Amino acid sequence: MHLYCHDHPETLSLETTVDDAQPGRIVLAETPFYPGGGGQMADRGIIRWHGGEAKVTGLEVSAGKLWHLLDTRADVSGTVEAVVDPHFRRTMRQLHTSSHVLNALVFQQFDGALVTGVQMAEDGTARMDFDLPAADNERLRTLEGPINDLIRQDIAVSFVYVPMHEAQNTPGLIRSRSVAPPPAPDGTIRIVEITGLDRQACGGTHLASTGGSPPIRILKIDNKGRHNRRVRIGLAEKP
Ligand SMILES: [Zn+2]
Repeated sequence: MHLYCHDHPETLSLETTVDDAQPGRIVLAETPFYPGGGGQMADRGIIRWHGGEAKVTGLEVSAGKLWHLLDTRADVSGTVEAVVDPHFRRTMRQLHTSSHVLNALVFQQFDGALVTGVQMAEDGTARMDFDLPAADNERLRTLEGPINDLIRQDIAVSFVYVPMHEAQNTPGLIRSRSVAPPPAPDGTIRIVEITGLDRQACGGTHLASTGGSPPIRILKIDNKGRHNRRVRIGLAEKP
C-alpha cells in the first residue's frame, strides 16, 4: 500500500473527502494518517467536518481500504479535514529513526545480527529484539554513546523504491528475520537510507535527519530466550 504519509511526512493536516462510510468508520480519498506497522503505532488525531469532529481511535486495513475508526457513529460525508496528532507523530518519528541507528550499529558490529521484533510506545520508549545468541550485554550497552554521536551529526534520512527481487538479493537490506514490509502494488519496496550509515527496507515514518531526535538512553537489556536480546531505549527528553 502506497501511503500519503510516506511521500509527505511533514503534512499532518489535509482537506479531503469521504470515500466510504459505515457507522463508526470512514475511508478517505487521501489521508495523512499512518496505519501502524513495523513496530510503529498507528497515528491518532481527529476528523473535522462542517458542524462536528470526531477522534480517530484506530486504523484498520481491510480489502485494500484504510478505515479510520471514529469515536462517533454520526454520519460523516463530503469534505473533511483529517488532522494527525503532531506530538504523537513526532515521538514516533524520533523513536523510529533512532531505532534505525541502533539497528545499524548492531548490524555492523555484531556480525549482521537481524531484528526479530520491534515495538515503539507513546511514552517515548521502544524495544528492539535482535537475534544475538552470543552477545555480551555490556558491549551492547556501550552503543549508547555512538548512537548519540550519530544523532548529533544530524545525518540526512531519505528513501527510495527498489524492485522487490533486487532488495531480496542485496544482503542486509531486509533486516527483519521474520517479516519484510509488503511490496507496493508495482512490486517495489521502500528502502530507508541514513546517508553513509544504513539502508534497509521499512514502511514507517522517519525524521528528515537524525538530529530531529533528542539523545536516547539504553534503558535495559534483557535476554529473551536463548537467541534474543531485547534492547529497550528511551528518548532522553520525555515527549
Ligand atoms: Zn523505519
